[in-house]
Amino acid sequence: MATTRRVYLDHNASAPLLAEAREAMGAVLDLTGNPSSVHAEGRRLRGIVEEAREDVAALVKALPSQVVFTSGATEANITALGGGWDWIALPATEHDSVLAPARTSGARIVNVPVGRAGVVTSDELTAVLAATPGLSGRRVAAVQLANNETGVLQPVAALVAAARTHGFAFHTDAVQAAGRIAIDFNALGADTMALSAHKLGGPKGIGALIIRDGVEIAPLITGGGQERRRRAGTENVAAIAGFGAAARIAAARLAGDARVAALRDRLEAALLALTPAATIFGTGAARLPNTTCIGVAGRASDITVIKLDVAGFAVSAGSACSSGRVAMSHVLAAMGADAQAARGAIRISIGHETTAAEIDAFTGVWAALHESEPGSAWRTETVIETRGQPHMGTSAIGE
Ligand code: PMP
Repeated sequence: MATTRRVYLDHNASAPLLAEAREAMGAVLDLTGNPSSVHAEGRRLRGIVEEAREDVAALVKALPSQVVFTSGATEANITALGGGWDWIALPATEHDSVLAPARTSGARIVNVPVGRAGVVTSDELTAVLAATPGLSGRRVAAVQLANNETGVLQPVAALVAAARTHGFAFHTDAVQAAGRIAIDFNALGADTMALSAHKLGGPKGIGALIIRDGVEIAPLITGGGQERRRRAGTENVAAIAGFGAAARIAAARLAGDARVAALRDRLEAALLALTPAATIFGTGAARLPNTTCIGVAGRASDITVIKLDVAGFAVSAGSACSSGRVAMSHVLAAMGADAQAARGAIRISIGHETTAAEIDAFTGVWAALHESEPGSAWRTETVIETRGQPHMGTSAIGE
């Protein structure tokens, strides 16, 4: 079963760097200067930053002037939610980089319920806001476009409309959606939107906050006047160039590429045929075309991920082992998922370079693991010891 060839099925954690992004970054590394300088060297770098800004804007149908480059989506989410709000309404299925700044911001939190499929409906958002006493002051709702664990899509345009009727601004984390489904920022109507380059073939450590015209944001990082005073610090020009190149490729690929969805559907059909008792989470909702979150009761996520890793396949665990016990993912818990299946959940997320042969190889190893060890080795009681410490989770899907 062991193989030296790796099959990478963890694109929601980070997608491979596109050759075009690498090339764009390499070219910048050899350039001297600061994009804020008026001399020719500076102007050349400024041109590269602004070209990338156009490419990132085009991917999500925003205007270049609406794009603020950040160190990643974590920074973009913190900038949007981290301070100045009296109320923040959000579902428990958000990414930790949204939940954490909301919780520490000092704002009062409105917990927006999600249904069993993981979806927030505009009716439920309206109902929970209408039922919350004392709403006043600065209010913002935050609902992601696509979930990183399950791929479940949220009806953001309808949620924005519902939030507005109760005086709420709106932030959406579009990290997992960008480059995978078409996004029209201005049609969505959100005030702010977070993007990350490394989920769509760009480098890690660069992202963007997209800001609707007329919306004032409090900069998280102050200092120089870069990014029109919305994010200080000399621009990471190489990473920005890589982001721009990746956004250009991602936008071109969006046009009618059904191959990824077909591969995912083939995978799910094969896995369900082999393990009919498995649960695929979020199937009651519209989902990203590339994501499968599947759980088998009696298996432990972390153990499955390690076994697959040894067999040459990179996937993520849908739950993390903590103090020797397997904890359920907060996303699956919020969906009211069956605890046994959720503790065994793994996420398989495919990309444009994934082949049908790789999907079939994964199916083969799934069958082999299931047949060879239907019993104890798959069970949740198994704890891997690392220097006497319980193994604290491999690649948890919240990351
Ligand atoms: N939001 C979501 C939904 C994510 O999946 C991630 C990355 N795992 C982030 C935000 C954080 O992005 P970054 O790595 O650019 O900080």
